[in-house]
Formats: sequence, structure tokens, C-alpha cells
Amino acid sequence: MESKLGIPGNTIEILKKYQFVFQKKFGQNFLIDTHVLDKIIGAAGVTKDDMVLEIGPGIGTMTQALAEAAGRVVAVEIDSNLIPILRETLGEYDNVTVIHGDILKVDIHELARKYNDGRPIKVVANLPYYITTPIIMGLFESGVPVDTITVMVQKEVAERMREGPGTKNYGALSLAVQYYAEPYLVANVPPNCFIPRPAVGSAVIRLTRYAKPSVETADPDLMFRLIRASFNQRRKTLQNGLNNADDLHYTREQIAAAIAAVGLAGNVRGETLTLSQFAALADYFHAADCAK
Ligand code: SAM
Repeated sequence: MESKLGIPGNTIEILKKYQFVFQKKFGQNFLIDTHVLDKIIGAAGVTKDDMVLEIGPGIGTMTQALAEAAGRVVAVEIDSNLIPILRETLGEYDNVTVIHGDILKVDIHELARKYNDGRPIKVVANLPYYITTPIIMGLFESGVPVDTITVMVQKEVAERMREGPGTKNYGALSLAVQYYAEPYLVANVPPNCFIPRPAVGSAVIRLTRYAKPSVETADPDLMFRLIRASFNQRRKTLQNGLNNADDLHYTREQIAAAIAAVGLAGNVRGETLTLSQFAALADYFHAADCAK
């Protein structure tokens, strides 16, 4: 587990050599702390049997450490100015493939097929924060074979992913992540571990994908529409949240009957429901729709 670029002086030298200009629109905050690097790679449990997908390698700081630990690393970077830098910093590794592209458009299924015979991959990244949620939800919802996702995210987002009912950060993202995976907070990371320093605190979180979702429901799509409707209007009751949602078409009476049928009080707020309760609600509506 070695990364020469984790040492701040080496990072600064490379940035100067290529006169690299940071692009805010790409969420570029490069890691300059070897302890944090070691923590991420240790928590990801990467071995020589693994293919790792790294999203946004930057100048290759974490990629170097991943190349030492993994069998194969495929790194997808959007910024064309970083490609020649990566060619230099990763030149000595024959198990690294750099792809110039947008991770939201790359066919990750195809990468897993091509570089890992379709077996589950590990995702490790210091994510660009402006697209954290679409990246993570995309990985889960697309059914890409993924074992674990170990990523640096904004601290508040890490909290949202692991919180349960009745807490400030509990929301649609908590339920979506916990439906697919078990979250584990690896470490909090202060702004001075990056160049340039981000305005927010960061955290490393590991999401271990369940073999099958944590709750069973006849209609996962409906369950997530119910969840989104409940949290779109946090301060409203569940009844009003579901009533006001554009993509749900149940009458006031049907909603009241569903809430009662799953054993909840008429004035309950959506933010107090567990994933199992949302699943029960979805199953009730699904059964009622089917009975029509
Ligand atoms: N991994 C590097 C590190 O830890 O030092 C850089 C992390 S930086 C927070 C995020 C990286 O993601 C940047 O290199 C940025 O250019 C890249 N990036 C941003 N949007 C991307 C996208 N849509 N697809 C692929 N890479 C992206």
C-alpha cells in the first residue's frame, strides 16, 4: 500500500510541472494524506483477486496505492488535462487502465465483463461531491456486480446514508442505501487532508452490498415513490405527503385506509417510518391496485 503522491510535496511538484488548474465544476479536491489513503484501502479490503473501479483518479494518488493492492484497477477520469499526468504517475503499473470519460455515461457492466469476467468488483473513490448520489444510486440500481463501495463523500451525506428514523439526516438517501447495502463509517476526514481544501467536512463510508435487498416488497418502484413523496414534504404528515405527490394517484380515503392497515397512526409523519414500514405500505397499495 504505497502512494508516492500521498506525500504533499510530490503532489505539488506534479501540479506545478503540468501547470494544472483545478476545475471547480469537476469537484476536484485531491488527497494529500497517506494515513487517509491507507484507511480507505484497508477498509475496502482490496486484495490481488480484486478488480477495483476508481471513479475520478485525479493525478493518480489513490490509484497508485490501489495498483499495489489490487489485481486490476480501472480508473475513469473526466478531465482531459489529467490524462497526460496519469500517464506519467501510473506509468510503472501494468495493472492499471485509465479511461477518459464521464462515469455517469460509462458502461460499468461492460468494464466488469471485460476486466473481471463479470465477477463482482469493488468501487473505491474520493468522489466528486456534486454527483455523489447519482453515482451511488446508479451503481445499485443498474444491477452492476458490485461487492463493496468505499468512498469519500461529504460528511453530511455519509451521515444521511447511515441514519435511521427520527434523526435529522434521515431521508430518501438513507432508505435507498440501506435497502441495497450495509453502511459502515470508516473515518471522518478534515479539509486539510485535501488540496485545495473543500468548504465542508468529509467522511469515508463503506457500503457492503446485500446478496438480496434488506426488505422484501412486491413493488420496489412504488416503495421508492412513496419514500420520495414522504420526504419531499418532510414537515407534512404521511397522509398529506402522499396526497400531494404528482406521481401517486391515490385518494385521501385510500391513503388513510393504507396507513391504518399497516398499523400506523393517522397523523404519522413519513420521516418516522422504517424501511419495513414503507415496504408494507407499498405492498398494501400494490395489492389494492392488483385487486382493481
Ligand atoms: N482521486 C483523486 C484524489 O483522491 O486525489 C481525485 C479526487 S477529486 C475529489 C474527484 C475527481 O473526479 C477529479 O479528478 C475529477 O476530475 C473527477 N471527476 C469529476 N466528475 C467526474 C465524472 N463525471 N466522471 C469521472 N470523473 C469525474
